[in-house]
Amino acid sequence: MLAGPLSIMVPEGFEQVAYAHDAATGLRAIVAIHSTVLGPSLGGTRFWPFVDEEEALVDVCRLAKGMTYKNALAGLDQGGGKAVILGDPSTLRSDELILAFGRFVDGLAGRYVTAEDVGTTQADMDLIRTVTPHVTGVSERLGGSGDPSPATALGVLWAMRAVAERLWGSPSLEGRHVCINGVGKVGAALAEHLHADGALLSVADVRPAATQAVVKRTGARVVAAESAHTVACDLFSPCALGAGLSVTTIPELGAAAVVGSANNQLATPQDAQRIQNSGVLYAPDYVVNAGGVINIANEKGGYDRARADEQIRGIHDTVLRVLGLADAEGITTAAAADLLAERRIETARMTT
Ligand code: NAD
Repeated sequence: MLAGPLSIMVPEGFEQVAYAHDAATGLRAIVAIHSTVLGPSLGGTRFWPFVDEEEALVDVCRLAKGMTYKNALAGLDQGGGKAVILGDPSTLRSDELILAFGRFVDGLAGRYVTAEDVGTTQADMDLIRTVTPHVTGVSERLGGSGDPSPATALGVLWAMRAVAERLWGSPSLEGRHVCINGVGKVGAALAEHLHADGALLSVADVRPAATQAVVKRTGARVVAAESAHTVACDLFSPCALGAGLSVTTIPELGAAAVVGSANNQLATPQDAQRIQNSGVLYAPDYVVNAGGVINIANEKGGYDRARADEQIRGIHDTVLRVLGLADAEGITTAAAADLLAERRIETARMTT
């Protein structure tokens, strides 16, 4: 049975779910706006071959709600929203379809601002910009912020400095051993920052070319991807896929803390308590990896890299606040992050 939009929206407090269909291009899309309390909702467009409409609806709603929390804790004056385009981008994508989607976003009159996500590209965002101003993460030649990965890596670095401060009394990462699993765009940029900070590196990736490039620039040691989480080190940094922290892997963790860019690192909500019980400090993923969204949100009013970097630096203080609240309330770090986000939204709701 198809879950109706209202049966998902109402209990979760969603503001709007909008559907689009364009017969000429085959576009089928859904935009979910979870909250605009802090400002226009912001979140990427995922172009994905969902099994059916129900799966797409559930996913877009889950992702939109996640953006409300992420944007709130990143200190942005943006609410949470997300879009999905149903279908396989490798066969369905056309410029006309992307433009039809852009016009759909434009019709929401700024309540939703779109951006790149899995299956869409910066070139798609550039195209969408031709039909609506409500898009961010466009290329530098259009006055945009370009590839968000370096900003995400910078945010992870600041999160690591906060965790170091908390665990070892100093934000310095000099001499600390960090194991990065996944050295793609974010992981490789992070490795360079850590190398510059004097950290010792172990790196893993399923693509040997990716690890070799990092080894050349940083002298990192290569470890196997499937056992990277077991490496005895100070910080483990998942920068590949999500769901890596599970009932199986948590007891095997070799690091004092987990601080990485991957989305949805906990395989289940119960893993937040499981990792806490194991004594490994978990820095919540959506706090750690907010550098990218902070960067694209900075396109509003003209992109300024120095201003964006300064805001990304704020991830350091946010991580410390999350860890402090978890201690004070006796809750997991994941629950503390959610609580801080909810408090900010509630305060804003009461003052508007
Ligand atoms: P990417 O695709 O450039 O890099 C991912 C790397 O992980 C690749 O080199 C890939 O070969 C490797 N990999 C894939 N499966 C693996 C496995 N099982 N074990 C080890 N390595 C594996 O992606 P990215 O942009 O660097 O993003 C990394 C993670 O951070 C993703 O989870 C992404 O969702 C998240 N993230 C990225 C950004 C950003 O700005 N790019 C922002 C927020 C979150």
